[in-house]
Amino acid sequence: MRVRGDYFLKSLQDGRNVWLGGVRIEALPQHSAFKGTLETIRHLFNMLDDPDKREIVGYQVPGKEAYAHSSFLVPYSAEQLSQRSKSFAYWSQETHGMMSRLSDYARSLVTGWYAAREQIGRFAPDFESKITAYYELARDNDLFLTTAIIDPQIDRSSGLEDSRIAERFLHVVKETSEGIVIRGAKMIATGAPYTHDFVVFSFLNFKADESKHAHVLIVPANSPGLHIVCRESFADNREQSHILSSRYEEMDAVLFFEDVFVPWERVLLHGDSEKVLKLRGNKTANSLAFHQNIVRYVAKLEFVTGIAFAVTEAIGATSFLHVQEKLGELLNQIDVMKALVIASETQAKPDETGVWIPELSYIDTARSIGTKFYPRAIEILQQVGGGGFVQAPSGVEDFYGPISKLMHLYFEGASVSAEKKVQLFKLAWDLIGSPLGARHELYERFYAGDPVRAYANQYLGSNKERLTDPIWKLLKEASKRGASFV
Ligand SMILES: Cc1cc2nc3c(=O)[nH]c(=O)nc-3n(C[C@H](O)[C@H](O)[C@H](O)COP(=O)(O)OP(=O)(O)OC[C@H]3O[C@@H](n4cnc5c(N)ncnc54)[C@H](O)[C@@H]3O)c2cc1C
Repeated sequence: MRVRGDYFLKSLQDGRNVWLGGVRIEALPQHSAFKGTLETIRHLFNMLDDPDKREIVGYQVPGKEAYAHSSFLVPYSAEQLSQRSKSFAYWSQETHGMMSRLSDYARSLVTGWYAAREQIGRFAPDFESKITAYYELARDNDLFLTTAIIDPQIDRSSGLEDSRIAERFLHVVKETSEGIVIRGAKMIATGAPYTHDFVVFSFLNFKADESKHAHVLIVPANSPGLHIVCRESFADNREQSHILSSRYEEMDAVLFFEDVFVPWERVLLHGDSEKVLKLRGNKTANSLAFHQNIVRYVAKLEFVTGIAFAVTEAIGATSFLHVQEKLGELLNQIDVMKALVIASETQAKPDETGVWIPELSYIDTARSIGTKFYPRAIEILQQVGGGGFVQAPSGVEDFYGPISKLMHLYFEGASVSAEKKVQLFKLAWDLIGSPLGARHELYERFYAGDPVRAYANQYLGSNKERLTDPIWKLLKEASKRGASFV
């Protein structure tokens, strides 16, 4: 029997250029920066071969014996949308919401483009056949995907008229009968070292003479000339004291494309900014992909709240009014996020081809509000735990050494043993104070794009008259009744 997780690990030995600390990493699964995370992914991928779990995380591909992950399921009913949601929730709960890019987001984007292929095909004739072939390939081979969208942060006040920007933002340098050659960089692709393919495009609205920058591509990670440049690793394999950093270090990387060849079948759109933006705005694809983000978010808020409850119980702080108020606020966060997931699913409607899409406005709200919830949740955890997080000893070894008796005496908690309390505070510190924890706060602020522009876009895209008309009407009625300022 094929065991997908093991197959996934083997598949990474494909000649890719992963750079960490100035060294090209040859064997990712054995490297201390990646092995814990890859073991987590191996475990998740293997669920599709487990008869007890495959119905939860996957579905049987119509006409085939094989199961595929539910991120590839095109939903044509409320039940199928719910099946997708349950699958996202299961993987998220298994990883406590700490693994945000398990490929189910980028896979959902590809699934959404495939589901919307007829709509998109109307303005991009080759798209339908290309996305169909790629979707089937990715689905049937459990491809791990991630997105690389944002252009490098060089000078945000300059545009492509500045040659420093134009030559560094990803662009086509050559076209041949077989494909295109691209050069430039993309900033931050989470999970990049162990992805199979990158979904690459830009958000920017390029002018007609900047069309060499406008494209939507699927680029294999082992493409010659592609360099995956990792940030410093936050993995810490001392699992007893760094449970999260030992398992969930997703790694973020910058991508350098040094004349990378992309065959035409992987060039979904090219040379037309208007079409790229139209694809980027496709509601079917965005609803399906962003839906994954908010289901995952619920698991993370529940995890933070669970830790806050346990910490306050362990130190006997639950009877204080302000602590109760803050713990209540965390519960509110969970309920708000859950309610938005439920609203997006219960208000789902079929698109023009019958694809059952969750309501995007609730998803957008959840993504925006999430940028504020998580930093606040971490702040609450700090407020209710006080100095306890740094009171914990460097490891649990002292419990087994010469000062063992004193350790048990002085670290005892209100309701838990000294050892349990130390273990709990180490876990909490990994979440709020470790490099991994700091990265998570940054991630939740920015993963969905610039939050400032996201909120502004919600305002710009809103139906303003629905809210302002009653105001003008009220004023008009008041005037008619004789109310006047003069
Ligand atoms: C941990 C982490 C993981 C990520 N993973 C991925 C990934 O897997 N794939 C991916 O594609 N992206 C990923 N991203 C990138 C993410 O999408 C971007 O960080 C986000 O879109 C914000 O863009 P930026 O970082 O370039 O910030 P910038 O756009 O450079 O913003 C910096 C500041 O300038 C302001 N600013 C900049 N330009 C403007 C403007 N025109 N108008 C108004 N204000 C402006 C912003 O509001 C902000 O305050 C990740 C980011 C993080 C932090």
